[in-house]
Amino acid sequence: MKTILFNLNDIELEKFVTDFGWPRFRAKQIREWLNRGAPDFSVMKNLPVDMRDKLSETAETLPLKIVKKLESSDNQTTKFLLELVDGEQIECVLMRTTYGNSVCVSSQAGCAMGCKFCASTLLGLKRNLTVNEMFSQVLTAAWELRGDRLSDTKPNGDANNGDVSHIVVMGTGEPLQNTENVIGFLERANHDLNISWRRITVSTCGIVPGIIELTKWGRPINLAISLHAPIDELRSKIMPINNRYKLNEVLNAAFEFSDAQNRQLMIEYILLGKRDENGDVMIYNATPEHAQQLIDLLRGHNVMVNLIPWNSVDERDFASISGNAVHKFQDILIKGGIHTRIRRERGADIGSACGQLRLKNKKDVK
Ligand code: SF4
Repeated sequence: MKTILFNLNDIELEKFVTDFGWPRFRAKQIREWLNRGAPDFSVMKNLPVDMRDKLSETAETLPLKIVKKLESSDNQTTKFLLELVDGEQIECVLMRTTYGNSVCVSSQAGCAMGCKFCASTLLGLKRNLTVNEMFSQVLTAAWELRGDRLSDTKPNGDANNGDVSHIVVMGTGEPLQNTENVIGFLERANHDLNISWRRITVSTCGIVPGIIELTKWGRPINLAISLHAPIDELRSKIMPINNRYKLNEVLNAAFEFSDAQNRQLMIEYILLGKRDENGDVMIYNATPEHAQQLIDLLRGHNVMVNLIPWNSVDERDFASISGNAVHKFQDILIKGGIHTRIRRERGADIGSACGQLRLKNKKDVK
């Protein structure tokens, strides 16, 4: 089995290099390439060719490899399907936005949470990702942005400099089922890549002990709660986790977090429709009554509601609702004093909804 060089510490990497009879300084050169996200050894132009060949035979750079890379038609979104050392596949998305370069990171291979609108959970949970596997997703995106252009500056989280500036832990998996590794990953991203806490977002379906742990951790990151319904009865139908942690319990823990960190709480709300027997789309979770219930839940708190038009998933029994219905729902929330925005659909043409690419690839190879 090949050695994953990114998983070695400096002493181990030096030993690996000197065991081949190569001078010590080569370890430092290799480390610099690894820290920039080099996908393989062929790009390490300051190493001799025979050394690069030997490294390719015996080692890998990162603990993941790109299986597929898809570019949206507007070139603003790149989606990666990545394969881990044990063959599990995960997704990672790079979004070039007006506010910076944002990477959506997966925290687990698969997901056990069973949300009814989501593709990521259809194959169940395989395992938690390690700190290095999450960090390597960011490095893969960083390489996409900067490539092998040598940088005379350390990564400084500055999009103007071509760096990754934002991280959202919102890809496949429930981060707060893997809290220790997620925290380890974010500490490292903040320290090594200089990504400010305020530009980091962790999204959860509502694992209350995990939210409490984030509050104790005490970093001023953004917390996003996947809410998707304003009452327990409806939420339990589409998010099984609601049978374990009820809406009020989840929101109370989240409000405590945002008060303690003095951060605005993000509320994620996917707008779902369902087809009736005539094939007409009926609004499922975004009627005017639902809007009023949502206002009652959130009024008086520092929140931003992100309305997310549903990205269709073939295997899921939902439908998109009309733009009119989306705006009507938003208007009621705004009139009720709730900050609300409609999240622009990014990369719909490359299946950027969580889990779609991984699911499709599994089917293709079956
Ligand atoms: S929405 Fe998130 S928590 Fe729910 S099943 Fe999908 S990945 Fe898991």
